[in-house]
Amino acid sequence: MADPLGASSPQDPSKATDSALLNSTGVNGTAATAPDALRAEAPAAAVAFTDGRPEAVPLSPLLGLGVAELEAWAQEQGQPSFRGRQLHDWLYNRGARSLEAITVLPKAWRQRLQDLPVIQAGPGPSEHPPKEEPINPGESEPGRSLLGRSRLLHRSDARDGTCKLLLATVDGLSIETVGIPSDDRLTVCVSSQVGCSMACRFCATGKGGLQRSLAVHEIVDQVLSVREAMGRRPSHVVFMGMGEPLLNSEAVLAAIDCLCRDLGMAQRQITVSTVGVPRTLPTLAERALDRLGRAQFTLAVSLHAPDQQLREELIPTARAYPIEALLDDCRHYVAITGRRVSFEYVLLGSINDQPRHAEALASLLRGFQSHVNLIPYNPIEEEEFQRPSPAAVEAFRTALARRHVAVSVRASRGLDQDAACGQLRRRLG
Ligand code: SAH
Repeated sequence: MADPLGASSPQDPSKATDSALLNSTGVNGTAATAPDALRAEAPAAAVAFTDGRPEAVPLSPLLGLGVAELEAWAQEQGQPSFRGRQLHDWLYNRGARSLEAITVLPKAWRQRLQDLPVIQAGPGPSEHPPKEEPINPGESEPGRSLLGRSRLLHRSDARDGTCKLLLATVDGLSIETVGIPSDDRLTVCVSSQVGCSMACRFCATGKGGLQRSLAVHEIVDQVLSVREAMGRRPSHVVFMGMGEPLLNSEAVLAAIDCLCRDLGMAQRQITVSTVGVPRTLPTLAERALDRLGRAQFTLAVSLHAPDQQLREELIPTARAYPIEALLDDCRHYVAITGRRVSFEYVLLGSINDQPRHAEALASLLRGFQSHVNLIPYNPIEEEEFQRPSPAAVEAFRTALARRHVAVSVRASRGLDQDAACGQLRRRLG
């Protein structure tokens, strides 16, 4: 199979420097964490223009800020601090999509704010322009971009109730997010990047490459958008949509912080899924402790093969990350956080679903406090692989269980609307 990115592609994460990976800026250097960074480094600058100075310094989107930050922001804008509490209520509880909609705010202030430039999370002048043309160019709704809300481009509902949303970013890109309902939960599968640079052979997202990382507000917006579309409060969030969360870890952690603080979720209801990026797992654990005070979200590691050779064939980026090093990092992660790690294993017919693979996987994970989640392959357009038969899936599951591996099979949801694991790409319909 040809490597779609090529070994020397600038998008190959194995070629990225440590600092690029840890800063999680994506391939084009776009600051995925721009609002965060700006908040930390230039809070005063964002105020400068409202008091009559000629130079308008762009504001950061407000979604992602907590109540204290919104109060401080309102005061910086010359308003009483309770305006910040009102903004918080309308952003998170009432799901306001634009400033215009927040009728409790003085009209004159809303109008003034609407005229101000907002920092765009998207790529600025870049050495790595997006491969695809923006699909919604010419977007200009300043009130919406100050709040940090996306625009709904398309919705598709699968027969099993799964709902996939295509959302437009302010810079004309689009992302997919999925709401997966069941009787007692609503899980939102969020994207952490537009596209993905990991190029796993069986995944549709990787086929288009990476456009850029998402900012905090663009991640939180997905959860609010699903809440609005489905008329229900999300109970769980999984970072299993488009992108590799560990290439955007600061924004992911900030989004987790916001989901817990401002939307009342618990970290234990959140899962971060990674295919593995060298030297980032222990850092994620430490940063989570620093930033969130604890790291109780579930870490799911996409393993997909019981040995290095097969893993490399399925996941080209695994060449830079031997499976033993990945497992060592997982052990390190468990030691720092005290949390068990989950392993995801996409079952590809005849490729990695044979009894010998189950046996090798059980030996690899012997003594490891973990849980294996089997995901029968969901077909994608490129159709390189086969979905295993239910009997093969069950045989694999029992082979692991017999060897004392904690194992479950993930039901495929939203298959008829290409909303299942690995089927997300930027597309209408
Ligand atoms: N980049 C992250 C998160 C996104 S993918 C990661 O790789 O973990 C979320 C999960 O869906 C991963 O376990 C991924 O391997 C799996 N997946 C990708 N393509 C799939 C497909 N076609 N069928 C089933 N699962 C797939």
